[in-house]
Amino acid sequence: MFKNIKNIDKIVYGTGSFDQLDDIIGPKREENNNYFVFLVDDFFEGKDLEKRIPAKKDDVVKFIFTGKDEPKTGQIDKLKDEILNAKGLPSGVVGIGGGSIMDIAKSLSVMFTQEGSSTLYQGLNLAKNPGIYHVGVPTISGTGAECSTTAVLTGPEKKLGIKCEYTPFDQIILDPELTLTVPANQWFYTGMDCYIHCVESSTGRLYNTFSKAYGDTAMDLCRDVFLGENSGQSPENAEKLMVASLFGGLSLSYSEVGVCHALSYGLSYVFGTRHGFANCIAFNVLEDYYPDAVIEFREMVHKHQIDLPTNLSKDWTEEQITRMAEISYALSHMWDHALGSDWKEKLTLDMIRKLFRRM
Ligand code: NAD
Ligand code: ZN
Repeated sequence: MFKNIKNIDKIVYGTGSFDQLDDIIGPKREENNNYFVFLVDDFFEGKDLEKRIPAKKDDVVKFIFTGKDEPKTGQIDKLKDEILNAKGLPSGVVGIGGGSIMDIAKSLSVMFTQEGSSTLYQGLNLAKNPGIYHVGVPTISGTGAECSTTAVLTGPEKKLGIKCEYTPFDQIILDPELTLTVPANQWFYTGMDCYIHCVESSTGRLYNTFSKAYGDTAMDLCRDVFLGENSGQSPENAEKLMVASLFGGLSLSYSEVGVCHALSYGLSYVFGTRHGFANCIAFNVLEDYYPDAVIEFREMVHKHQIDLPTNLSKDWTEEQITRMAEISYALSHMWDHALGSDWKEKLTLDMIRKLFRRM
């Protein structure tokens, strides 16, 4: 069976394009209870961008703190109840922020029209009803969450996405200017998520020409941004990294992530380590799996003077390491892609534990 991918319906790209948001959502205001919900990363509260949010009298603007935990099922359930109880079903949701806000906007738009808790919908094609109109405006580049079919949530039992055809955005607005304020470390870690997506997409059994075409372009752009003569944060590189993020995500849509993401999910689950940072910690010990890419990654770390922690495992208990290894091992689709369909013959829980001990 070949995957039948649901993609984003509409894309606007370009510096300053954020100001088209009002015109874009205008016609949708006729739907449901005639109001929009704006979910905005709280970094932007009181900043210039706040004044540019085209909120009307009846709209709801919620500033959301994303600085600590990744999005949680409980958080989505609470937002859904609060909003529905106060004003009924909105016309649409607009998410303005990094990968966390993208996932919150995507999952909320689906959950508005499902019964019960979001924990019931973590998995593939579990949503029963179409969600509501939703727009993504990314303000950090790298995760590919702006185009993926997944809204990653951490629940009481698992970190797993709501993944269905209603999840992808109806519209995204890619305005590179919005990413210029991202702090240097965060810029690097989230940017590396894109680099690692390209590496993992291209080193597994699901790799194909579709994934390669997007992945190669994204990889070239990442190399420019992180290793090129004019590397570093700049308006020009912001444009490049925003396209790289999108293309890295599209490359994955017809391939899969691999060993690094499997380990990184374990780290995020047990310690709440943020995705981009967790990926960097994990990738740094994966020379057995991705030898050339790990060398190149370390060059980038060095070039941008990122102080990537090592020897973290000295403070971890055996139970924590085992729990992370179990979470990783359970991500069979990633191992299947990275190591082959006979991955269970090649990989043991103990091997995964050893990788965690290297971190
Ligand atoms: P993030 O959204 O978690 O934000 C990180 C920090 O950057 C926050 O403190 C935020 O306030 C700040 N920030 C955001 N935009 C800013 C800006 N323009 N200027 C200054 N600060 C800004 O970071 P992220 O790395 O983009 O996203 C990580 C999340 O994405 C994780 O929850 C992960 O699970 C998810 N993710 C999802 C997918 C997917 O396909 N759905 C893929 C990869 C990652
Ligand atoms: Zn990722």
